[in-house]
Amino acid sequence: MSISENCIAINKSLPRHVALVAVSKTKSVAEIMQAYDTGQRVFGENKVQEMEGKWQEMPKDIEWHMIGHVQRNKVKYMAPFVSLIHAVDSERLLKEINKQAKKNDRVINCLLQIKIAKEDSKFGMSEAAAKTLITSEAFQNYKNVSVVGLMGMATFTENEEQVRSEFKELKRIFDDFRRIQEKLTIVSMGMSGDYNIAIEEGSNMVRVGSAIFGARNTI
Ligand SMILES: *Cc1c(COP(=O)(O)O)cnc(C)c1O
Repeated sequence: MSISENCIAINKSLPRHVALVAVSKTKSVAEIMQAYDTGQRVFGENKVQEMEGKWQEMPKDIEWHMIGHVQRNKVKYMAPFVSLIHAVDSERLLKEINKQAKKNDRVINCLLQIKIAKEDSKFGMSEAAAKTLITSEAFQNYKNVSVVGLMGMATFTENEEQVRSEFKELKRIFDDFRRIQEKLTIVSMGMSGDYNIAIEEGSNMVRVGSAIFGARNTI
């Protein structure tokens, strides 16, 4: 199937409360336009400068989501336009986003990345660290960031029960945090291989790349 057929089919298959972030990292402007032309407007990238280049070149009604790990010195390049940063994993990063958002006279929406995978390679905060952050006094003073939800990545494994239990865990943390911070509305979990499980476990934002655009060339 083509990129546009994949994009239409996946959008059709999702429940209405689930948003689709089309993960376009490594893909060309021409390929991304095939998804855009079906009506898709939300795209996810994992490298700041690649996203900035695409933002410059492409239609301005695209919402660009930064889904990858962010280095603090790169925040300034996306602060003028990014619409959601998924993987905030420290207070230092949040503070830098707040600073750059302020310079641009914006409020930038962010998700806190929670480490749910059992494997070591995944970034993210512990539940306890995230809770300490959202209840801290400093947090209330970051007027140019808005933490609107949580993001997580499951372990890369064939074991469906493990993936399911990690998603369940993120949803449990989300429900718990919502009692303290009612602005939290987004649970970003699920990728090409596991988004149906994620939705069953309460995801309302999925990040799907290869199921739309085909396999990426790994470098
Ligand atoms: C690349 C990426 C995805 C999409 O992965 P696919 O398996 O191609 O759907 C989702 N989330 C993050 C954080 C990614 O880096």
